Amino acid sequence: MVWSRRSSTWHPGNWRRTREYVMHRDRGLCRWPVADAECGEPAAEVDRRIPYSQGGTSDPDNAWSLCRAHHALKTGREATTARETRARREPPTHPSRRR
Ligand SMILES: [Zn+2]
Repeated sequence: MVWSRRSSTWHPGNWRRTREYVMHRDRGLCRWPVADAECGEPAAEVDRRIPYSQGGTSDPDNAWSLCRAHHALKTGREATTARETRARREPPTHPSRRR
């Protein structure tokens, strides 16, 4: 299937289609930044960079593929920042590689 944002079948609010598109675009790999590169683990989820609750859209420009660990990390962090202020920033280390 060829995907194009100019396609007449494009539906900006269709998150399921966005997920399929983003998984394909990111080659099914996690794009979480690790040092100078990206995680590269097999992606398990497609995530909104800017959460829907903070005005993020379902546009592929606002979406990236994440592995299970990083999706959980980001989701947990968003839950934390929702409760606290945004002052605390943790380094982007991969949870499964932490020793
Ligand atoms: Zn990852």
